[in-house]
Amino acid sequence: MKIRILWMYHDLMDLYGDKGNIQVLKTRCEKRGIECEIKTVSLGERADCQEYDLFFLGGGADLEQTIIYEDLLKRKDSILEAKASGTAFLLICGGYQLFGQYYLDQDGKKIDGLGIYDYFTESTDRDHRCIGNIAVEAELDGRRFKAVGFENHGGQTKNVGSPFAKVLKGHGNTYKGMYEGYADAQVIGTYMHGPLLPKNPMIADIVITRALKRHYGEVTLEALDDTLENRAREVMLKRLGVQ
Ligand code: GLN
Repeated sequence: MKIRILWMYHDLMDLYGDKGNIQVLKTRCEKRGIECEIKTVSLGERADCQEYDLFFLGGGADLEQTIIYEDLLKRKDSILEAKASGTAFLLICGGYQLFGQYYLDQDGKKIDGLGIYDYFTESTDRDHRCIGNIAVEAELDGRRFKAVGFENHGGQTKNVGSPFAKVLKGHGNTYKGMYEGYADAQVIGTYMHGPLLPKNPMIADIVITRALKRHYGEVTLEALDDTLENRAREVMLKRLGVQ
């Protein structure tokens, strides 16, 4: 088996080690004998998104978002084609924001998002930056689990139709909010850096399973030894007082 990952704006959208997510996906595939091809694409470079099983976009500060958004918007048709073809999506923070209607920064500058989802993000409340460790509880693809990460965003995302998770500790989509991220059967959008996947291998496996689905249908992944990963997550859950 093989998955092909499209890693968008790897050189610009990579906050708090988001690239670690790619390393985790690659390692977990390789341990199971699943070939994992990774293609990086940045500004002006051609990509037919629908040729890939997973579309990955990391986080970026307002500056990087402003640099990439026009290039990203030009790819909207290709992204929609990918969605229609069953490609899975993993979007972190600034990347997640850009799939919504718009992003309004602290200086009142508004940049358009892809408008694929109804949510929108406004960063106008300077006194309430969402920053720190975060713990959430999610239910995804029939699995219920707790996950941990780190968030740092001025943007508050509203009008999220189906959130990724319930916040146990931290902020999530809005300052001291109840919900975190966006998720549906194909897309996971989240504010969780850390990076997300090393301490939350169950999310990595959900993403791999979703990516395999396009060509291989419902695949049951071989279990891996996640003792260390789980211990790392449990330490953080305990520190945050939610375990
Ligand atoms: N620039 C966005 C914000 O502050 C995204 C930041 C991020 O990707 N961590 O809301």
